Amino acid sequence: MTNSPVNIIMYHYVRPLSLSRYPDIKALEYQEFQRQINYFCKNFEILGMKDLLAVIDGSTTCERQAVVLTFDDGFIDHFHSVFPVLHDFGIQGCFYPPSLPVLDKKLLDVHRIHFILAAAKNHEDVLQRLQLHINDHLGSSHARASLEAAGSGKRDSPETVTIKRLLQRDLPRALRTAICENLFREFVSIDEKAFVEELYMNESQMRLMTANGMHIGSHADSHEFLGKLAPKDQEHELHRSIEMLEIVGADPSHGWSLAYPYGDYNQTTLDLATSLGCQAAFTDQAGAADVSPGERLEIARFDTNDFPQ
Ligand SMILES: [Zn+2]
Repeated sequence: MTNSPVNIIMYHYVRPLSLSRYPDIKALEYQEFQRQINYFCKNFEILGMKDLLAVIDGSTTCERQAVVLTFDDGFIDHFHSVFPVLHDFGIQGCFYPPSLPVLDKKLLDVHRIHFILAAAKNHEDVLQRLQLHINDHLGSSHARASLEAAGSGKRDSPETVTIKRLLQRDLPRALRTAICENLFREFVSIDEKAFVEELYMNESQMRLMTANGMHIGSHADSHEFLGKLAPKDQEHELHRSIEMLEIVGADPSHGWSLAYPYGDYNQTTLDLATSLGCQAAFTDQAGAADVSPGERLEIARFDTNDFPQ
């Protein structure tokens, strides 16, 4: 018997957005999330991680169209808004928190950038400040070159795309973090520690979710583009995240799952994931999942905003 399609759905922020302090953050409104889960329960089979692995291994098949619900980045939203809804419906979500905020209470650059962009009224101002920082550290010719050649993204203006590209990936790592910290203080908050406590789930919240049937997997440690890191740094990223899985009771000794930060990986990542016992890994490549065993470390995912429903 052949399988019906399996769709992996990817979520990030899910919150009562209009009531929140940062209504411009790119989040899914809580009520819309509830509506989606209702819709999925009526029209799809909802698979947990064990079910997905069984489909991949061919020990079971899906008779109806199926979805797997995945939640990236370890936001407190997943504890307050997502977990209670899934628990009520008796379905499993798969959660992918990076380990650095959990183990070291550090704010990740990727999220500093989200909140800088949500708090700043004008992204041209942010880009100007960014240009000054690059000027200070790398000289004006580098600043000009860095700011060229940005296209606009699916949901972002050219300025926003440039800011994200430079601060998430293109500038040297230490400089990226220093500039992100600086812009965060300027546009968002001087108290990063308090911000971390409010933004991310902590160990005990994740332990409670695991104990109540949720799946927690790896989203690496510091949310870098894994494919751009040296092999030893990639290894460190995966080892630390597996350490976190142990701490929150996810028992990685019997296999674990992985969502690549930014959907990025290379052959080294695939080799490391295989040797460390990873059983399934998700990209950000939009599309229905190929659930054949040979594709288990390169499974496509739909962003919730792109999935037809
Ligand atoms: Zn992520």
